[in-house]
Amino acid sequence: MKLNERGLLVVISGPSGVGKGTIRKALFAMPDNNFCYSVSMTTRKPRPGEREGVDYFFVTREEFQKGIAEGRFLEWAEFVGEYYGTPLEYIEKQLATGNEVIIEIEVQGALQVREKMPDAVFVFIVPPSRKALEDRLQSRGTEDHGKIRERLEKANREYNLAYKYDYIVVNDEVYNAADRIYAIIRAEHAKTERSITKYNKLMEGNE
Ligand code: 5GP
Repeated sequence: MKLNERGLLVVISGPSGVGKGTIRKALFAMPDNNFCYSVSMTTRKPRPGEREGVDYFFVTREEFQKGIAEGRFLEWAEFVGEYYGTPLEYIEKQLATGNEVIIEIEVQGALQVREKMPDAVFVFIVPPSRKALEDRLQSRGTEDHGKIRERLEKANREYNLAYKYDYIVVNDEVYNAADRIYAIIRAEHAKTERSITKYNKLMEGNE
């Protein structure tokens, strides 16, 4: 039995290189889940191995700006000189069918979602140490030196907004981090304000 009809929107943020993508994959491998991932649109170039429509929808700046003008994003932001945005239509459809939608976005976008969808759940991922973050960005080898420095500076500014999130999850080990997020999602569904209407109906025998 589902606790409520509408799925949960789970917003995951955290500094570049913290391992959000890896945690998400571990989360999606957990048993009995009905998670779907909202693929973002971006103007950044694909990294080796990234696939169109799987990792991102890769578009030109003109295409992105058209999307903004047509109101097609739940949120969008500029991050280190590139546009990133969450297409609205997919999310609405999945939430309405009762699926949990996971989005992985930076903080400015997350704050916009907080305004527009206050019942979403906000999770901020932190590294076990600052050194771990630096090491990960260096060893990923997908950004040049300047971009890495820019992303580390950005990480500090992002961390200063972590207090605006509902939960902080440390990525000490990928499986553990994913497991904590899964636990958060289950607990959120059991929250009285999310489930009371449904239970009232059940107790009245209307469903
Ligand atoms: P990357 O270039 O490393 O894939 O992503 C850079 C940052 O943009 C990451 O913090 C990532 O979570 C964020 N991001 C990815 N998609 C979106 C999106 O649709 N909206 C916003 N606001 N940020 C996004």
